Amino acid sequence: MYKAFLIKYAEIGIKGKNRYIFENALRDQIKNSLRPLGDYLVTKEQGRIYIECPDGYDYEETVEALQCVFGIAQICPVMIIDTIEWEPLTQAVGDYVEERYPDKNFTFKMEAKRSDKNYPRTSPEICIDMGAYLLRRFPEMKVDVHNPSVRIMVEVRNRSYVYSEVIMGPGGMPVGTNGKAMLLLSGGIDSPVAGYMIAKRGVTIDAVYFHAPPYTSERAKQKVVDLAKLISKYTGPIKLNVINFTDIQLYIYEKCPHEELTIIMRRYMMRIAEKIAEESGCLGLITGESIGQVASQTLHSLASTNEVCSMPVYRPLIAFDKQDIVDIAERINTYETSILPFEDCCTIFVAKHPVTKPSLKVIRHSERCLEEKIEEMVKTAMDSREIVFVQ
Ligand code: ATP
Ligand code: MG
Repeated sequence: MYKAFLIKYAEIGIKGKNRYIFENALRDQIKNSLRPLGDYLVTKEQGRIYIECPDGYDYEETVEALQCVFGIAQICPVMIIDTIEWEPLTQAVGDYVEERYPDKNFTFKMEAKRSDKNYPRTSPEICIDMGAYLLRRFPEMKVDVHNPSVRIMVEVRNRSYVYSEVIMGPGGMPVGTNGKAMLLLSGGIDSPVAGYMIAKRGVTIDAVYFHAPPYTSERAKQKVVDLAKLISKYTGPIKLNVINFTDIQLYIYEKCPHEELTIIMRRYMMRIAEKIAEESGCLGLITGESIGQVASQTLHSLASTNEVCSMPVYRPLIAFDKQDIVDIAERINTYETSILPFEDCCTIFVAKHPVTKPSLKVIRHSERCLEEKIEEMVKTAMDSREIVFVQ
């Protein structure tokens, strides 16, 4: 029945002269997400985007893909009617209602638009006459202009369109409209959710993963690649930087007090992530940190890891409870992968009693023991990084 979709987007933030940037980005993101599914025609018109579907397209698959495109507020499946002549048009709209709503016991409101101001009926006349036709044909239906359970929309252009169904989109802003940021992506539950949330505000995502072979296995790395792939359904392609962190970790282990290991390690992760971020034009870092979740995420610890970078660090989960994060992870389908039991580079060297209130003075002092080799090691880690393009 449906050969097209009408895409509506939220108005917030898209008014004024930047509107076209938003619309073009949304159109491009829709094209990207549908390209693997077939030859869809995506066009933009005032305030909305139209998608015409190829013959034999898969409805479910198409809706599912569109529900991953940030910036879409509503997805309306549209029936195209190849005429603008009144009699066959009313007939076709009636047929649409007939088929789409087997139970006619509902209230409705007609809405209409015409692009040609010379069309023999004005928009209000289209509503009145079409409504009257439907009431004659389906006497169980009732009009309710204030609170209808169904809005039947008819648009008359060079041909006609009818739609009444609304599927909710994911909301947010189209990726690509709000700069780029570097996600510190681990194999856990939190960081993929954090990346998803920031991408939802229109931010393009690059990622970095700190790998510690042989303490962390190839499978642990593959898990991170898999997670990047899962969120790339929403974020678009991700450039994943894999940093070999083993030597740095061992060096810290050798030189610094063990209860400070996690904090110092996290500080080096942030420093390296910021360097890569700068090189690749990112404007901020993103982490999955949440206050108090673990020893390295108390306010003291966060202050300590935050100190080493000058770029803004976005922590969208900062005030979320674990269960709330898990709920999002389940919804975006990363949870099952995140809980696979592969070792994490932070857990390998974790002390029995890590500091929970690290003092900046003490941490800075401990880091001085690394002075001899650490810069060289950071440089080596940066230079030898592996880049994986995930999509
Ligand atoms: P997650 O579930 O995201 O792994 P977590 O609860 O395990 O988080 P931590 O291990 O303290 O928390 O990590 C906090 C944040 O630091 C992570 O959300 C992630 O952004 C970043 N991070 C931790 N380990 C790594 C890693 N090996 N590579 C890249 N980023 C990491
Ligand atoms: Mg983790």
